[in-house]
Amino acid sequence: MVMNIKVVLKSGKDQSLFRRHPWIFSGAIKKIYGKPEEGDLVKVYDNMDEYLATGHYQYGSIAIRVLSFEDIPIDEEFWYQRLVSAYNLRHMLGLDTPGQNNVYRLVHGEGDDLPGLIIDYYNGHVVMQMHSIGMYRSLPYIESALKKIYGDRLLTLFNKSESTLPFKGPVTPMNEFLMGNTEGTTVLEHGHAFKIDWFSGQKTGFFVDQRENRMLLKTYAKSRSVLNTFCYTGGFSVYALAGGASRVHSVDSSAKAIGLVNENVALNFKDAPHEAFAVDAFKYLDNIAGQYDLIVLDPPAFAKHNNALNNALQGYKRLNQIALEQIRPGGILFTFSCSQVVTKENFRKSVFAAAANAKRKVRILHQLTQPGDHPVNIFHPEGEYLKGLVLHVE
Ligand code: SAH
Repeated sequence: MVMNIKVVLKSGKDQSLFRRHPWIFSGAIKKIYGKPEEGDLVKVYDNMDEYLATGHYQYGSIAIRVLSFEDIPIDEEFWYQRLVSAYNLRHMLGLDTPGQNNVYRLVHGEGDDLPGLIIDYYNGHVVMQMHSIGMYRSLPYIESALKKIYGDRLLTLFNKSESTLPFKGPVTPMNEFLMGNTEGTTVLEHGHAFKIDWFSGQKTGFFVDQRENRMLLKTYAKSRSVLNTFCYTGGFSVYALAGGASRVHSVDSSAKAIGLVNENVALNFKDAPHEAFAVDAFKYLDNIAGQYDLIVLDPPAFAKHNNALNNALQGYKRLNQIALEQIRPGGILFTFSCSQVVTKENFRKSVFAAAANAKRKVRILHQLTQPGDHPVNIFHPEGEYLKGLVLHVE
């Protein structure tokens, strides 16, 4: 990896770096000394030749993702320190507790000062998704740091970056096992068992980010008739049953997900009052008047880019409105958005419009977000992607 390519920013375009924002846009660059390739390490200087940062160079509007604001070598020790501090945070959060919890996000990109890197830990099996070529090319360092941190506990290292890398020029990424060859396992999330299939499942195999919100739902589930839409592997369904729901219906358009929900319910309960349906959630929601008094809406990101924002907001409004119109009086709605470009305020406005159209009295009981193993770097507010509201509907 070429280390000495120097990038100089235009005067006045260094402000975001003083606020430690980890992205440098191509428009901020005045001059590049040399010809960096996608993923090369570059050093960034201001117009007066003062050092500002070191980062991975990439083609596109985000030209550099900053790894360090100190002029330190990005070597084996650097990678070990970053990963060990990520591990220590999860340990401090109590997420690595044998017998209770052994699934967590080990690295959350910018939130762990490792832009472009996602790592989830599933009871000794580690699944990585790289979103930049720089991270992809740093793999040998990441691999050796993980081996040092987990020692004998590390059973599998699976790099699942084929679909997450934005540009495939200098490398041909494949999904590959770097260690072991296990395609799935069973984990414990706060004492609830889940089968994870990282090999053919969505993302890294499980939505680790809803852990605390599932715990909250459990406290509301007693004797309620629950509908879990966009259920994927049934996280909310399992917690609802554990909380004493009178019945739980799970809905997802993916038949494979529905198969996993049924397996996960069976893993935890003998005869659960549960049924799962592989259908479109919007269609299912058309005919549920008076059937449910706890509904979960956790759709996939409706907007991946800013230009899709308006359609996404309309989508959230429509979805929430049909649920709000039909939920039983006294019902509880858990509603989420995981679109990064939809702000907390925008999401709330969509739900507000839905409530107004549904002509129901609606109160906000809780405002939810992602848990501590998905930390938000305060200088990178874009990292706060998960928004949720718990509503009481009269
Ligand atoms: N709540 C889940 C995560 C949801 S991810 C959890 O806690 O694990 C979003 C899910 O929505 C995916 O499983 C996807 O298959 C499903 N999905 C996408 N479009 C859908 C639609 N129109 N109807 C039903 N499910 C849909």
